[in-house]
Parts: sequence; C-alpha cells; structure tokens
Amino acid sequence: MKLEDLYRQVIMDHYKNPRNKGLVKDDSYKEIHLHNPSCGDDITIEVKVENDVITDVLQDGTGCSICCSSASVMSETLKGKTIEEAKKIIEDFFEMIQGNNITEDEEEALGEALAYKGVSQFPARIKCATLAWKACEKALEDGDTDE
Ligand code: ZN
Repeated sequence: MKLEDLYRQVIMDHYKNPRNKGLVKDDSYKEIHLHNPSCGDDITIEVKVENDVITDVLQDGTGCSICCSSASVMSETLKGKTIEEAKKIIEDFFEMIQGNNITEDEEEALGEALAYKGVSQFPARIKCATLAWKACEKALEDGDTDE
C-alpha cells in the first residue's frame, strides 16, 4: 500500500468514526471554540489538565473531512501527554503542515497526525487541518484546569 493511501485511510477512519466526540460542559474542563470562515469549519474542544498532564480531550463540531478528522486525531494524540509534550507536538504539527522538515523523533511523536503531511501542498486546507490543534494550544496556555 502506498503511504498516501494509508494516510487517506487514517483520515477517513477518523472522519467516519470520530474519537472523543461530544462535550461534557463541565467546569473542570477548559473550553475553546474556533471557527474557520474560509471553509465553514466550526470546532469546540474541551481539555482537562491535572498536575500538568492532559487527562482528557473532547471535541465536537462541524466541517470538512480534513478538519473533523484532524480534531479526532488531535484528541487521541494529546491525551495523556504533559503540557510541555503536547505544546511541542502541536508546534511540530504546525511545522510539518507548513511543509517544513521535522526530525524522525518528532515524526514518531506525531503518530497518526503524520497523515496530514500532504496538506502542506494545499495551502487553502492548512487552516482546516490546524483548527482543532490551535484550539488545544489556546486551552493549554493557562495550565491546570482543576483549580
Ligand atoms: Zn475545512
């Protein structure tokens, strides 16, 4: 199987069977809502952080397959990571999607999120792929949510 086909499968799988979908609207979560007017994508994420570790990531919203699948992949990739690890992964994801080179170790940490590597060739879709990740980056700015 070609790598491109594998990547397409990952994206379609997360689009059809989104992970961690649905919000709890609980005070112990930080909620961030972001909208991408150029495509109509609309994503809300909820992040729970305890002792500097992301213990839960939830996502919900509507949009194109790239955006919705990416939110699902993001939730799985970042859950269980420390804030520092997650920030680094988010940063590397942005680098990759802009077409910049990242190291093998960085690629490994991205896991399924590597499926979006090809998006760098479609500048109009970059906002779709990064929307949920930007929301999570924003949610992590203030640290613990269980205060
Ligand atoms: Zn989109």
